[in-house]
Amino acid sequence: MTMSLTQSIHKGRREKADETAAICGDERRSWAELAGRIERLAGALAALAVAPGDRVGMMALNSVRYLEYFYGCWWTGAVVNPVNIRWNPHEVAYSLDDCDTRVLIVDDAFAPLVPQLRQLSRSLRTVIFCGRGTPPEGALGYEALLAEAAPRDDLRRGGTDLAAVMYTGGTTGRPKGVMLGHDNLYINALSNASAVPRVGVQVGLVVSPMFHVAGCGLSLLMAQRLVPQVIVPVFDEVAIMAAVQAHRANEMFLVPTMIKRLIEHPRFAEFDLSSLRLMLYGAAPIDATLLAQAMAALPGADFAQAYGMTELAPTVVTLGPEEHRPGPQRERLLRAAGRPVPIAEVRIVDGEGRELPPGEVGEITARGPMVMQGYWNKPAETAAALRDGWMHTGDMGRLDADGYLFVVDRLKDMIVSGGENVYSAEVENAIAQLPQVSMCAVIGVPDERWGERVHAVLVLRAGQSLDEAAVITHCRAHIAGYKCPRSVEFRAALPLSAAGKLQKFELRKPFWEGRSRNVN
Ligand code: ATP
Ligand code: MG
Repeated sequence: MTMSLTQSIHKGRREKADETAAICGDERRSWAELAGRIERLAGALAALAVAPGDRVGMMALNSVRYLEYFYGCWWTGAVVNPVNIRWNPHEVAYSLDDCDTRVLIVDDAFAPLVPQLRQLSRSLRTVIFCGRGTPPEGALGYEALLAEAAPRDDLRRGGTDLAAVMYTGGTTGRPKGVMLGHDNLYINALSNASAVPRVGVQVGLVVSPMFHVAGCGLSLLMAQRLVPQVIVPVFDEVAIMAAVQAHRANEMFLVPTMIKRLIEHPRFAEFDLSSLRLMLYGAAPIDATLLAQAMAALPGADFAQAYGMTELAPTVVTLGPEEHRPGPQRERLLRAAGRPVPIAEVRIVDGEGRELPPGEVGEITARGPMVMQGYWNKPAETAAALRDGWMHTGDMGRLDADGYLFVVDRLKDMIVSGGENVYSAEVENAIAQLPQVSMCAVIGVPDERWGERVHAVLVLRAGQSLDEAAVITHCRAHIAGYKCPRSVEFRAALPLSAAGKLQKFELRKPFWEGRSRNVN
């Protein structure tokens, strides 16, 4: 038998038929119920002429239907093409047309967009409404389809059969469709579970968007382990804390900006989060100050970091609970993203693709069975990213002698000032130590003399004040002069992607209008 994602459903139905597979709000599915609905969704899709290999879209908040959608598509051999819920209708239509996706499932939140999507998209034919309110005109009802459909046998697609066209986060610009096979997603779940042991994890929680690979991957991992998953529709501090408390959830994943919002929430102390055993974080750099605060706020939880990208399905490096525990090396190790998972090779290369020795900063590349098949409809980008099986991540980093990877910056975010490389994350780390600062982003802006100069954009905590000179003076005491911001700007908020990542290209835009920056 090849690696087939639907195996989890067969296994769950056989071994834990009446036990809970997933919960979301007032909805609960046992493994037997989930499997039955998946079989019927597969039957319904086949009746709608969805053939093996066809893409099926979903535009919805996280829910148990998202799980049904994933596995229902795979059961019938189709490919999932989840839609980023923050895209505007033009972007959604672009993605549907790009993938020639003819069937789209929408929930209540996105039903109002359907008329416009029908106008904009050439490929969209069938809309299935899985919400509870008023269905969009012409849409088929999800529950009615399931009720009428004949259950279908699992086509047992697996191995290198295409499972998903999943879009990148759009942190640095227009998202790219990434082709992932069953094997890529299957092996990711397996390798995550082996790299970060789930000791005492009996209930999981999924809140990161299931349309991204991180939320999807975690959900698949929980299904593979037959651990019941509590699904939270969208990031909401109180909803997360209430769900952890109500279901005694043991594991969850959040990006750093969301961890910050959670632990700083005024009602944080009201909830009993003592059931949390594993707090996973990653997908973006975390500053040392925030990590220390988070570990102090959740003393009962082990912490673990993951580094990866959609193109790597996504995880290639993890920093396990061990490194987060007190010890002489802790402060140094917590600056690392971790060590390669057993099935990944990680190599640092220079601009010519030559491998660099430990300690030297270059581009992070990774190889192994998690590497994507390519970008959908983008042969040139695929050829640039995949060379001899190595995925070129566009991230800069170094490996130390013990094999720990330190991610220093995205190539596109690195600032080149007077010929020196300035890694924005290092400057942000220094600024984050200022207690008045809530969030910060460091970007390169044009400079006549130096090419680029370091510019910091700050959000202050409520009721705090700080001026440019104080920020620069603080930085001078912590980092080399050429890395210190030359200018500081204060704002009420910073632009975040749907996944909660800082979109620095948005901040750079006004400064670079009419000029060209060598990268983005
Ligand atoms: P896009 O490619 O569309 O600009 P994106 O790169 O944010 O968006 P993802 O594939 O979701 O899309 O994210 C992968 C990127 O996230 C990595 O290339 C890296 O820059 C960053 N990242 C992931 N994990 C970590 C981590 N642990 N530490 C630092 N950065 C990380
Ligand atoms: Mg990327």
